[in-house]
Amino acid sequence: MEARERGGFGGLTRNKEGDGLARGGANLLPAGGYLLSSKEESVGTIRESKDSLIDIPWAQKLGSSMASTQDQWNISDYALEGNKCAACFRQFNKMEHLVEHMRTSYHSVHEPMCGICKKHCRSYESLREHLIGPLPKQECKNIFSIRGCRFCLTILDSLNARRVHQERCQLSGGLLASFANLGLRDNLTIDHGYARGRQVVALACKMVGGGSDGSLDLCARVCLVDENENIIFHTYVKPPIPVTNYRYETTGIRPEYLRDATPLRQVQKKIQDFLCNGEPMWKIRPRGGKARILVGHNLDHDLDRLQLEYPAGMMRDTAKYPPLMKTSKLSNSLKYLTQAYLGYDIQTGMQDPYEDCVATMRLYTRMRSQNHTIEDYPLASDPQNRNNFASWRQSELERMSPEEMLAISKSDYYCWCLDS
Ligand SMILES: [Zn+2]
Ligand SMILES: [Zn+2]
Ligand SMILES: [Zn+2]
Ligand SMILES: [Zn+2]
Repeated sequence: MEARERGGFGGLTRNKEGDGLARGGANLLPAGGYLLSSKEESVGTIRESKDSLIDIPWAQKLGSSMASTQDQWNISDYALEGNKCAACFRQFNKMEHLVEHMRTSYHSVHEPMCGICKKHCRSYESLREHLIGPLPKQECKNIFSIRGCRFCLTILDSLNARRVHQERCQLSGGLLASFANLGLRDNLTIDHGYARGRQVVALACKMVGGGSDGSLDLCARVCLVDENENIIFHTYVKPPIPVTNYRYETTGIRPEYLRDATPLRQVQKKIQDFLCNGEPMWKIRPRGGKARILVGHNLDHDLDRLQLEYPAGMMRDTAKYPPLMKTSKLSNSLKYLTQAYLGYDIQTGMQDPYEDCVATMRLYTRMRSQNHTIEDYPLASDPQNRNNFASWRQSELERMSPEEMLAISKSDYYCWCLDS
């Protein structure tokens, strides 16, 4: 009887049992249950042949979303699934708890996401932990170890695609750093003729010590580079107070380098003028205008030491961008970020601010090129999103699916993809 029903599917007729049959059956399920008479039977078929379903996209999706539970087809698991955060996969006993979680977590399309199970992570560090360890998710780790790029953490289609990609993804720094030393050090020329679109510049300083114990940071070298890693400005700076520690081992700076160097005030003015690009400071807005976007690592400190002010909305700080941070409060060092995400070493021995500029600029452009969904109002702080999780919507929110709630959840930080 069963064999005759299947007669119409040609090649499948001869399959008696096991994988071949189950695979055929599963493929036919979406066509309208011709083969399987009841829901229980169809579930049963999936259960028996789970392993053979791995190459069928919809089954794979179903399988991975259930993968964390032991008995994957238990009814009570379906109930729990209803209270599972669609972004971080945390389970909640009650829907109201999930609503509260969504209200305070600011999940969004801008969070780093596992290319395998689609879990959202707050930072690339936690995504790295999820994919590589310690305490990785085993299923994702297995796939990542074959097809994942260990620098940008994306998943490629094949082992070969990974090899080709990773070769391009891993950058090197040596050549460029030496180029920076080719007599360009004291070039104080700022090219005002340089103009196109919204310009981005990276800034880095090297500090020497002042004060009685030499612990006060004084800017002694500063560098500015453009998006193409060309030096705009690179100079020694004469600090306004005496230097008590040249920190020679890391800075390579000797007293004679600073003796006739440009005074801080003059350097500060040049940089300020270059950043503002003809716009008065009070008029600078994050969108539109001529003022330049400033990239750096721990910019507040650099700007403080340069006695320079610049609007926060125009700064892109690799020490403060949540996806690049260690935790919500703790930054990663630029040395670590460059090693982990760009694949090369910086700040070994004597340090050149040009090298830091290039590293931050590369981290910035890589983050800017993240491929995220484009939204009209991407930020939780946008007025249009003010009521998305308002308490008066509580009952409406509790009736939503986790996916629907994720769709209205917006980012609490400015994602750099929005600059592109
Ligand atoms: Zn969550
Ligand atoms: Zn984004
Ligand atoms: Zn995953
Ligand atoms: Zn990569």
